[in-house]
Amino acid sequence: MKRTFCGLMLAFTCICAMAQQKPLIGISTGFSDNTASVRYTYVDAIVNAGGIPVLIPLAKDSLAAAEVLSRVDGLILSGGEDVYPFFYDEESVGSLGVVNLERDRSDMWLLQTAVKLNKPVLGICRGEQLTNVTMGGTLYQDLPSQFPNRPLVQHGQRSNGTLPIHHVNVVKESRLYEIMQQEQLAVNSFHHQAVKDVAPGFKVVAVATDGVIEAIEGFPQYNILAVQWHPEYFAQQGDAQWIKLFEDLVIRAGGGKSAIKNPNIKQPKIR
Ligand code: MN
Repeated sequence: MKRTFCGLMLAFTCICAMAQQKPLIGISTGFSDNTASVRYTYVDAIVNAGGIPVLIPLAKDSLAAAEVLSRVDGLILSGGEDVYPFFYDEESVGSLGVVNLERDRSDMWLLQTAVKLNKPVLGICRGEQLTNVTMGGTLYQDLPSQFPNRPLVQHGQRSNGTLPIHHVNVVKESRLYEIMQQEQLAVNSFHHQAVKDVAPGFKVVAVATDGVIEAIEGFPQYNILAVQWHPEYFAQQGDAQWIKLFEDLVIRAGGGKSAIKNPNIKQPKIR
């Protein structure tokens, strides 16, 4: 009887501790010059939203991607190079930028595993485009030479990323609207590609004032929200409104706030 009670107490304590742990949010990284890297804006945005950022180096095979995804609670697909157009069955146009086949494959494996395990995903910039292509959609390889509407707003901004450069109109019946509670958002913009045909199971939830698709989401079929801009710049600055977008990922990842308030680790001394 006593043993059973102790066992129950132990199980209860473990469950409570688990429930209060901060979720691990994996961030896909770029790869060039034999180096894996990601801008610190992503890291700080996740920290500000109450998650623990975990940088994921390029997966060399699908099993490596599956293993790391099984150990994190959510995924951010970060920005980077153009998506290889062969993945959506198009010939390259002259104004296509640099592509990185190894990174495309790695990001696709990560995303496909996340979908299989129903782990929440936030796609950012290239991460949005990669999501659309992986799930069966297509892209404009280069907006200035391919997008039918004119004039275009400045999608490849020359100013610092902390400065919004154009607006997007948000679809009211969307999770993006539920999070932001605004019908129009001022966003930054660092892309020359964009979603063309939306992947099956996804819907457009934000459009730039020139008609360029700027956000898609897959709820309830897919646990995925993906945006064309870089909200992490604003969240890193402590902008409460934009931190909410990352908090949504952390909440979808099943996280509450951490029970660890003060781990009592001493500062290393400089002698
Ligand atoms: Mn834009």
